[in-house]
Amino acid sequence: MSKKIILVTGGTGLVGCAIKKIIESDSKSDEQWIFVGSKDVDLCDKQSTEALFQKYKPTHVIHLAAMVGGLFHNMNHNLDFLRNNIHINDNVLQTAHETNVVKVVSCLSTCIFPDKITYPIDETMIHNGPPHPSNYGYSYAKRLIDIANHGYYDQHGRIYTSVIPCNVFGPHDNYNPQTSHVIPGLIRKLYDLIKDGNTEDKEFKVLGTGKPLRQFIYSLDLAKLFVWVLREYNSPDPIILSVDETQEVSISQVAQSLARAFDFKGRIVYDSTAADGQYKKTASNAKLRNYLPDLKFTAFDEAIKESVDWYRNNYDKARN
Ligand code: NDP
Repeated sequence: MSKKIILVTGGTGLVGCAIKKIIESDSKSDEQWIFVGSKDVDLCDKQSTEALFQKYKPTHVIHLAAMVGGLFHNMNHNLDFLRNNIHINDNVLQTAHETNVVKVVSCLSTCIFPDKITYPIDETMIHNGPPHPSNYGYSYAKRLIDIANHGYYDQHGRIYTSVIPCNVFGPHDNYNPQTSHVIPGLIRKLYDLIKDGNTEDKEFKVLGTGKPLRQFIYSLDLAKLFVWVLREYNSPDPIILSVDETQEVSISQVAQSLARAFDFKGRIVYDSTAADGQYKKTASNAKLRNYLPDLKFTAFDEAIKESVDWYRNNYDKARN
């Protein structure tokens, strides 16, 4: 059997690093994995993308690369999120098609679903109304991946598909306060707050009311599912990769879990003048559970502890 050459775009990011780690202990002799980041290629540029595909000649692609950011970064840069992600996605999918890549697994997100919707959301609802105004650029660019995947299937019979993760966290996240998602942002904040002393007078300030609910998946759990999708899932239709609906947590539970992981001695306070974003966006993983009924996710507190420990041990090389 000929070897699969699997190219992972965005291979230096949060999800890419997790897939790399999983593959270290779950490699197959007929698979060769290549992980690339923005130092290897500018996927906004078609020629640069073509040169990458010429160099590695992938047969399969996991396409993670994207302009990614938290609520506040999105709110201020919707046009950049739209244009950069449209270019990246079109370059990757079209170059894959032109070079006969047999399978592409791209990445959507539960935060691109319509703002006004019934819960839980499922894979059929992506295009049923406008996204939340805070991240419309990112959302519409991501939604177009699903449209393109169906186009490549209808016109060319390609199995170019997509997965829809809920919020992801874990080692190798982006901890930059201007661009981070909520968990790495709070990890950085708490680390900075107590680095010169973990005392009772310290206030851990969390933006927003703490009430919004979110599903968070540990990057290493998600990575295992990506590998499963690449090997086993063969439909152009997207599939939600999320923890169960019962595993949804509030931002204040996140803050408390982080405080425990850091053994924080001070007080958590909420700045309710800051934006909360969508109150909830509960996703159903029924389709996934149909394929993998016995799937188990890492317990939230355990995954938070591992993520915090990773950050403490790797502060100097983390994306701060
Ligand atoms: P990261 O921000 O951690 O990583 C982004 C990756 O994309 C990096 O490897 C980066 O390279 C690469 N990249 C960005 N721009 C370019 C470019 N122009 N050319 C080449 N490479 C580029 O993202 P995540 O790992 O968090 O996200 C991976 C995927 O998962 C994305 O598609 C995202 O939309 C999706 N997703 C993420 C969620 C989350 O909570 N994080 C939730 C749901 C979906 P480098 O680091 O070398 O600059």
